[in-house]
Amino acid sequence: MRNISQWFNPESPQEAAQMMRDTKGKGCYLAGGTDLLLENRTDFEFAVDLSATGLNEIARTETGDLFIGSCVTLHDLETSPLTHEFADGAIAFAAAGCGNRPVRSTATVGGNLCNALPSADMVPVLLALDAVVFFTDGESQESVPLSEFFVGPRKTVLDGSLLIGLAISGEYANWKVISRKLTRTVEDISLVQVAVGLEIEGDTILRGSVAMGAVAPTPVRATEAEALLIDLPLADAPVAFASVADLAAATCSPIDDHRATAQYRTDMVEVLTRRLLCEVAGIEDVKKYRGEK
Ligand SMILES: Cc1cc2nc3c(=O)[nH]c(=O)nc-3n(C[C@H](O)[C@H](O)[C@H](O)COP(=O)(O)OP(=O)(O)OC[C@H]3O[C@@H](n4cnc5c(N)ncnc54)[C@H](O)[C@@H]3O)c2cc1C
Repeated sequence: MRNISQWFNPESPQEAAQMMRDTKGKGCYLAGGTDLLLENRTDFEFAVDLSATGLNEIARTETGDLFIGSCVTLHDLETSPLTHEFADGAIAFAAAGCGNRPVRSTATVGGNLCNALPSADMVPVLLALDAVVFFTDGESQESVPLSEFFVGPRKTVLDGSLLIGLAISGEYANWKVISRKLTRTVEDISLVQVAVGLEIEGDTILRGSVAMGAVAPTPVRATEAEALLIDLPLADAPVAFASVADLAAATCSPIDDHRATAQYRTDMVEVLTRRLLCEVAGIEDVKKYRGEK
């Protein structure tokens, strides 16, 4: 960032996206700066500051959908009554698990998504809730499911467009959702993340979702595994959850690095998926009472 010579303060998302286009690839959007300022990049000459664009709102629409502006901070997600009352407060819980308090006060959900690390901590829970993201190039607005937003490590579909925010359908408001990440310390990059969601009616699971982070080039949904959750009687769930967990582990393609081996990450996807599904459904883990680890 040391070559930045001009700082723009647009007052609307459209103005910001237009300014970005005018910089012809030499500008960058700046939200909280907690990722950007550490990168020490030298290829940017212009900063497009998003703090006055009005994208810091969390709202419920008339139809019950939850809208989250891209500049909402992780602290606001953690503390908002609107996120606490939606899907078991799973979004608030995921936000509370990111970094430390000073970081969460500055870091935004948009920055977390747009930085597009496979290990970005807000992504699995939003994927599990089928979030849709909205973006603009300054002239028109587009939307895609979050599952189509990431095209590779640190790559999204944005191509210079501005992320406006994301929406989650009100039909997920009563889902039971939980996410968990494994790290050495709370500020380390996640080794593995899993988020699961279930829609339960009476003694039947109507459908469910399993999303994973840090175990593939982009965050992913375990769609094949999710098929086993459709119209599943709770009585059959303990055994079915073990199969769902095996399939989720088979879906991921993690790497070996200095933090963990691919095998460890794969094994942890199986364990976390099974345990989180049991936790969300309020049933005992079948492997636990068989005495297996
Ligand atoms: C000490 C520390 C601990 C951390 N711990 C965690 C952690 O536990 N979990 C975790 O996931 N992350 C963690 N992070 C990383 C970081 O805080 C988050 O990824 C954060 O959400 C990034 O948001 P930001 O607003 O700071 O993004 P910025 O740094 O401002 O931007 C990040 C990238 O996104 C782009 N961008 C931002 N907003 C938009 C937009 N609206 N449209 C288009 N592009 C945009 C920027 O141009 C930049 O390329 C940590 C960082 C630090 C310094």
